[in-house]
Amino acid sequence: MYPRITVNTKKIRHNTGIVVKLCSRQGVSVAGVVKATCGMPEVAKAMLAGGATMLGDSRLENLEKLAPFQVPRLLLRLPMPSRAAEVVQHAEVSLNTETKTVKALGKAALKQKKSHGVILMLELGDLREGLPLDQLSRAVREVMSTGGIRLLGLGTNLTCYGGVLPDPDNLGVLTAAASRVQSEFGIMLDLISGGNSSSVHLLEKGLLPEGINHLRLGESILLGRETAYGETLEGAYGDTFALLAEVIEAREKPSLPQGKRGWDAFGKKPVFQDRGLRKKVILAVGRQDVHPENLTPLEPGVSVLGAGSDHLLLDVTEAKAQYQVGDTAAFRPNYAGLLQLMTSPYVHKELIK
Ligand SMILES: *Cc1c(COP(=O)(O)O)cnc(C)c1O
Repeated sequence: MYPRITVNTKKIRHNTGIVVKLCSRQGVSVAGVVKATCGMPEVAKAMLAGGATMLGDSRLENLEKLAPFQVPRLLLRLPMPSRAAEVVQHAEVSLNTETKTVKALGKAALKQKKSHGVILMLELGDLREGLPLDQLSRAVREVMSTGGIRLLGLGTNLTCYGGVLPDPDNLGVLTAAASRVQSEFGIMLDLISGGNSSSVHLLEKGLLPEGINHLRLGESILLGRETAYGETLEGAYGDTFALLAEVIEAREKPSLPQGKRGWDAFGKKPVFQDRGLRKKVILAVGRQDVHPENLTPLEPGVSVLGAGSDHLLLDVTEAKAQYQVGDTAAFRPNYAGLLQLMTSPYVHKELIK
């Protein structure tokens, strides 16, 4: 059935093993982040088989599907106070910056006779979620005095909003803060969570500051690449996912649209170059499923011309294959494309085990 995305769980397991090996050499445990696959249980299973010891997702609906696995589930997006009860029900641990939310989680945890783990997030320059350093002590004190809550550790998130790269300096601020909190409060923090796949290059270079003992990794496992510089990880597969879509029209057409031109279906004024008659195909997949800039055609000589909600247009003039109606074309999605394809109910998911 087309369109479909293939999910190779064997390769995901392999990639997890590569990343876990890199991490464990430096005493770092791995939360396998499955949000780009909408919390697909088979992907979670592959990550656990590869050595991840925690599962992370940003959505409660996805974490709920992961209940059968005997590992802690980590909610990556800051909890909504209005859904505190569900957070406590579907996640054993969450990332937090707001003590008002932590209190709501504590209340829900006590009601459910549970203890909920909290990781306090520090702001280190990327300007997404995070507490400023000078408010950390107060937050620690409040979290520690909240019934139903266990302070598990500190963390940070980088390279998400501001594009700030993790380095020994900013991550050093996190480890120093952790040491200070431990001596100030006379406690041991279990987890010092040093970021996402953009921290992996530091591991490879031996530059991850000592004291960081946890990373939350999605893209590096799923696509086999670290995300600070976009380098492929040695020995990892970059072809764990593929999109297959079916040709519904194959014709020669001019490269220049004819007639008086206004806006396209998405309110843009497209620009065209006259390259004469071209062999073009239309595939039955569109922006409702994935944005075309997130796809790379697998066959050399194929280029993406554009897409509407339901149609993806390719130029196949330079391709070796002679595309006909009913044929298929294959693409490699990037991380954003993967998320979109997995989220679209119109795209079938095929597991390759
Ligand atoms: C998505 C996310 C991650 C994982 O990011 P990758 O780049 O996929 O490794 C880690 N932490 C948080 C808070 C996230 O939202």
